[in-house]
Formats: sequence, structure tokens, C-alpha cells
Amino acid sequence: MRYSWMDDYLLAKRGVTKDFQPVWNWIRYHVGGKMFAAICLDRNSEPYFITLKLDPVEGEFLRAQYEDILPGYYTDKLHWNSVRANGAVPDALLRQMLDKSYRLVLAGFSKKRQREILGLTCCGMECAACGAYPAKCPGCEACAGKVFHAPPGKACPIYECAVRKRKLVHCANCEQIPCSLWRETRDPQLSPEEFAQSIRDRFRRLKEE
Ligand code: SF4
Ligand code: SF4
Repeated sequence: MRYSWMDDYLLAKRGVTKDFQPVWNWIRYHVGGKMFAAICLDRNSEPYFITLKLDPVEGEFLRAQYEDILPGYYTDKLHWNSVRANGAVPDALLRQMLDKSYRLVLAGFSKKRQREILGLTCCGMECAACGAYPAKCPGCEACAGKVFHAPPGKACPIYECAVRKRKLVHCANCEQIPCSLWRETRDPQLSPEEFAQSIRDRFRRLKEE
């Protein structure tokens, strides 16, 4: 297939797993256990379709533009589309389509579950990689934002704003990022340089999604 980058590209996304469905001869890519893309193989194990999900209006538009984009092969033809694995769909467009499929399937989960699948807090921290986890802090979701450096008995101001007030998955969906709350809310153990780096890292992680 001409899109040899596809496997690496999809597996680099947060929360993505892959399996092989032997009856259909499909390599499937899942996020949170739900399929968002597949490579359909022929009898010789050669890819012939890449199947992905799109908003129905966009899917219909793209099918009209490219003869190598077809209604989903052995899937719901309203939401799923199949791209010929050796067709003429530009790589950049296929990447965009795969990104959209990933986001569409991810968005089907609750916002809390989306954060769990992404392995990120609303402010872009990775609890699993945090030195405070789990002995000192059970993680942002488990304590509903009441982390050890939040005001006593209260949630961290970023959690309060992004999750409770604005009901976002995370701050990347807010045009004010990185806002004054980001600059004022800090783990007291971090030096000014470490805190500045933490803001840059969290911003990058969230914007990569
Ligand atoms: S302090 Fe708690 S909420 Fe913050 S990153 Fe560490 S484990 Fe997660
Ligand atoms: S204002 Fe926006 S960026 Fe700042 S904490 Fe609230 S949701 Fe996050």
C-alpha cells in the first residue's frame, strides 16, 4: 500500500491499540476499545481498503471529489468510508481523515472517560508519569481535582474552571489557554524554571490532541 506511514501514525496517537480480526482479515485500530480505522487485507494479506469514520456530510463531499473514496466496505455506509489503499487520495488528506475519525470516536465517550483514555488531566498533566502518583496523590480524576496543592478541601482552580464550570474535556478546547489560572496554579515543589517548562509541556501535549 502507498500509505506505509499509517501504522506508525495511528499508534502514536494517545490511547490507540491495534488488533487483527482474522475472520474479516482486517487490521483494526481502536481508541478506548472502539474501532476508528481499519486496513482491510485481501487473500494475499495485501491492503486494499482503509476504512475510517467521518461526519456524514463530509464523507459524502469527499466521495464526490475522489473516486478512490467509497462508502464504507462492510460497515455502516452513512458514517464509514473506505479509501483505496493504492489510490490517488493525497497522503495529507488521508492523515486529516484519520485524525477526524480518531477525534469523532473519542468524542463519543464521556469527557471524564476521554481524559482517562488520553492519560491526561484537564491541564495536560500525565498522572501516570508524576512523582506524586499514587502515594501522595491518587490522580486528578480520582480526587475530583482536590490535589494536594489545591486550596484545602477545594478542587484545583484549573479543574474547577475547565471541568466543572466550562464542562470541557481539557483546556485545549478553551481559547484562553494558557490563561492566568495556568500561570497562578502551581505545584509548590517546582522551581520557576520547572514551572515555566511544565506550562510549555502541558500546552504542547494538549495541543497535540
Ligand atoms: S499531582 Fe496528582 S493530579 Fe497532578 S499530575 Fe500528579 S498525580 Fe496527577
Ligand atoms: S480559562 Fe480556559 S485555559 Fe484557563 S483554566 Fe479555564 S478552561 Fe482552562
